[in-house]
Amino acid sequence: MSDPGQRVLIFDTTLRDGEQAPGASMNEKEKLEIALALERLGVDVIEAGFPVSSPGDFQSVRKVAKTIRNSIVCGLARSIKQDIDAAAEAVKTARHGRIHVFLATSKIHLEHKFKKTPEQILQMAVDAVKYARDKMDDIEFSPEDATRSDKNFLYRILEAVIKAGARTVNIPDTVGYTIPALYGQLIADIKEHVPNIHQAIISVHCHDDLGMGVANSLAAIKNGARQVECTINGIGERAGNASMEEIVMALATRRDYYGCCTGIQTKEICRVSRLVSKATGFVVPPNKAIVGANAFRHEAGIHQDGMLKERSTYEIMRPEDVGFVGTGLVLGKHSGRHAFLERLKHLGVELKPAQLDKAFEIFKRLADKKKQIFDEDLLTIAEDEVKTVKDTWSLVSLKTTSGTNLKPRVELSLKSKGKIYKTRSTGDGPVDALYKAIDAVTQMKGELLEYSIQSVTRGKDAIGEVTAKVKIGGKKVIAHGASTDILEASAKAYLNAINKVLSQP
Ligand code: MN
Repeated sequence: MSDPGQRVLIFDTTLRDGEQAPGASMNEKEKLEIALALERLGVDVIEAGFPVSSPGDFQSVRKVAKTIRNSIVCGLARSIKQDIDAAAEAVKTARHGRIHVFLATSKIHLEHKFKKTPEQILQMAVDAVKYARDKMDDIEFSPEDATRSDKNFLYRILEAVIKAGARTVNIPDTVGYTIPALYGQLIADIKEHVPNIHQAIISVHCHDDLGMGVANSLAAIKNGARQVECTINGIGERAGNASMEEIVMALATRRDYYGCCTGIQTKEICRVSRLVSKATGFVVPPNKAIVGANAFRHEAGIHQDGMLKERSTYEIMRPEDVGFVGTGLVLGKHSGRHAFLERLKHLGVELKPAQLDKAFEIFKRLADKKKQIFDEDLLTIAEDEVKTVKDTWSLVSLKTTSGTNLKPRVELSLKSKGKIYKTRSTGDGPVDALYKAIDAVTQMKGELLEYSIQSVTRGKDAIGEVTAKVKIGGKKVIAHGASTDILEASAKAYLNAINKVLSQP
């Protein structure tokens, strides 16, 4: 076995910076599910949230801290006592807890945000780190907007916070302004000019405003950074954060150049990517590196020919190494229960016996309508069964009529607590009519904020998956529904939203 190289710690901030992405808001259950998936993935640190920002955030950080055993669970705090107290309280039950304290150090932020002198800022940072260190051993400090800060001031503040007890110093490119050569040089300069830097791990945190988040992170690693902050699918504030899967696979694929390794179980990557995409409602673009649907597809004849002769002609990574699910035909009408179970197992789906029975029944019904069942179809079925919310309302039957010069009409029957409820409705379009009917039966008034439909695989008989963002009684939720009938999928997505709201405390 060759030398795996120096270890780079993976700090995931999907649940904190990722959740700051406009429109991404996850509930506590979804956050916990993602945290568990991240732990399985092997991330070193999970930044679970910003506890002082809201009671909901505080609760979910606390829940993650209580549940996760193998990864460090981290809470973010500004350099003020109230924030540090909240972060310490939220992560105190973690087996490995960390407080991440930050304070802006750039001239722009100092003058406009704080109206403080550099000396005052330096003192604030030292006081905050000392205060946090009294509560917890593992403290990380971030000089916010580091890449636009005066270098000499940055060296001084880093030296001071390390002396005060920070074990990790993170150099954020908060606004996505830097470029690889300059960022790499900044890390090299910090190593040279901060006398006690060997007592801390240098971390990096990059944003993708100029499309260089991953490139900047890698340049920093090449220059000695040993922790990288990133998110699944690169989600995050504005254009997003550096994408974890890209950094991890770049280090693995080009170990010859970087000489570094991570503790990531790369076979779990696609699974976590799907989970985050579902929870946030952010669809992964087909051309996205590593996790996009086309990331491992070869279309050009010359490429296909080469692939058939020898995979390495056009393949630098093996799709199975990142748990990539292709659309190879797997099952059909005549496939039995055994083949179905085996395939699910292969895809890493674990269902309880009762869920399995139901999933198999859905599979059989689907196989009647659809000739070829692909892996993606199976995952959609299975994910439907392991939904985290209880079905207070479920669809019994649906009849819709619409067409040119016809007023769309819907006949609907829903079930709740063993009782059947029926209604009819009309609307401007079939979805409008349908959602009005559901509102009438459930006595909920939903506002549809976003609606999108995607086909799970190719072909006219493909499953359609509807993602809907719905606001009900002040709460916003992201919900899904899947069916070969797109109106049925629309109904299921809307009911999923209602069920999610009803299951919230
Ligand atoms: Mn950030």
